[in-house]
Amino acid sequence: MSQPCLTTTTQLASRLIRLDTTNPPGNESRATTLIAERLGDSGLEPTVQTWEEGRANLVCTLPGADPGAPALLLSGHLDTVGLGAQPWSVDPFGGIVDGDRLYGRGATDMKGGVAAMVVAFERLAASWHHASPARSVVLALTASEESGCQGAQAILPLLPTIGAIVVGEATANHVGVGHKGVMWARLRVDGRTAHASRPDLGDNAVVRMAELISALEATTPAAGECILGRPTVTPTLIAGGSVRNMVPDLCECTLDIRLTTAFGAAAARRVLDHLTAPVPTCHAEIDLVVPPVLTSEQDPWLSTVIELIGSPDLRTAAYFTDASVLAPALGDPPVCILGPGEPALAHQVDEWCSVQAIDDCVDIYQSIAERWCGAVESTTSETKP
Ligand SMILES: [Zn+2]
Repeated sequence: MSQPCLTTTTQLASRLIRLDTTNPPGNESRATTLIAERLGDSGLEPTVQTWEEGRANLVCTLPGADPGAPALLLSGHLDTVGLGAQPWSVDPFGGIVDGDRLYGRGATDMKGGVAAMVVAFERLAASWHHASPARSVVLALTASEESGCQGAQAILPLLPTIGAIVVGEATANHVGVGHKGVMWARLRVDGRTAHASRPDLGDNAVVRMAELISALEATTPAAGECILGRPTVTPTLIAGGSVRNMVPDLCECTLDIRLTTAFGAAAARRVLDHLTAPVPTCHAEIDLVVPPVLTSEQDPWLSTVIELIGSPDLRTAAYFTDASVLAPALGDPPVCILGPGEPALAHQVDEWCSVQAIDDCVDIYQSIAERWCGAVESTTSETKP
């Protein structure tokens, strides 16, 4: 379909949507190849870090005059979640624009944000040399954020000293001051097999797991509420039994537990212990812990960003981001979560992002970076083909 009126940024977002980077398996190299070529055409020298077959991160730096000065990190991820079981009314990998909406898997989470970051970075680069700012700007795009930030973990050795992080996740271009963390816990209930015609001789692991899940409602912590909201405990995966006529002797269930600053991993662990205590054959294993992120709005850098955006409407997010890995490892610099996507549309059927929001976000990233670096001359605004 020809879509002649799209800006460079929307075209890039649409091209990224057309590259299927559903994780698993990811195949984010498709996106790093496209973006690396594009940055190369602008005279930049991105590093593509392939940390597993088909899984690649990208880092590109605009170096400041003072190599010791902390850099601004623009952070995005290239993978998306799957499509879900319900049908879409549009092609999820079509990257189609209808009115102000760019449709497709990843439009909101977060290929719209990645496209805005790349174009803002190119604009900065265009005026970089004659402006010679003191401080650096680093673009860091990762693979495998959706499955627990493995790409962010891999990218850490490539990053210089970082003074502040912008994460381009969906906030509808509002300033996000923090987000929840997550614990993924796997409950395993062991039972005893029997012929299904004699259930009295077995111990049905699926039934026991059902009882545990029913008890979750009462176990979900009421305490632990803070600026990040309430913690939540959600069963997301379940598997049990092997054949139709046998009492199942094993059932496993994954719980997605969202952590807050008032309800951390230790508190979540206590909830799991309490939940599983009545069932001696139930054990919980922790597969992943990603801590919450929160920056005070009084932080000097974040308050300049808030002033720059001119929006007093501060947000927090229920999802986690790569900042959960990046910020603690980089010495806890302030983090601003800000991207063009609509938070409620992430991971949804018929996901879309406002084209206007994507274009506006380029200007926002550019002005945040210019403020960080000192005076960089503004380049021309978005070019249309
Ligand atoms: Zn995301």
